[in-house]
Amino acid sequence: MIRDDKTNPDLWDEKASKMLEQVRNSPPPSLGQMAVNFATSMSQWASKGFKMATEKTRKERFATCEKCDFWKPKNFGGMGQCLKCGCSGAKMHLATSSCPIGKWGSEELDKS
Ligand code: SF4
Repeated sequence: MIRDDKTNPDLWDEKASKMLEQVRNSPPPSLGQMAVNFATSMSQWASKGFKMATEKTRKERFATCEKCDFWKPKNFGGMGQCLKCGCSGAKMHLATSSCPIGKWGSEELDKS
């Protein structure tokens, strides 16, 4: 039987650990990219009438982010920061926000 990295669980664990470490040490997006992300987020929020997320949605989003390796709870003075998009925890309060890697989405809003 051929044993390669697809069949050796130890190698998979090693690879997964290395990937996780890279995620943990990855820098946030550049200031320019963060500005673009922020402007896009604000534009989407404005286009839907500045609607805030419900408390249930906010709690679900925070619970998801707290388990995510991209989440840095101490950044932005304790508001927390997603190192994938660079946004602060404030994004979880906006109905139109979504996770950049699809872990949570925007609330369903009227199409008006
Ligand atoms: S928004 Fe998504 S990628 Fe960012 S910390 Fe939360 S779950 Fe992770």
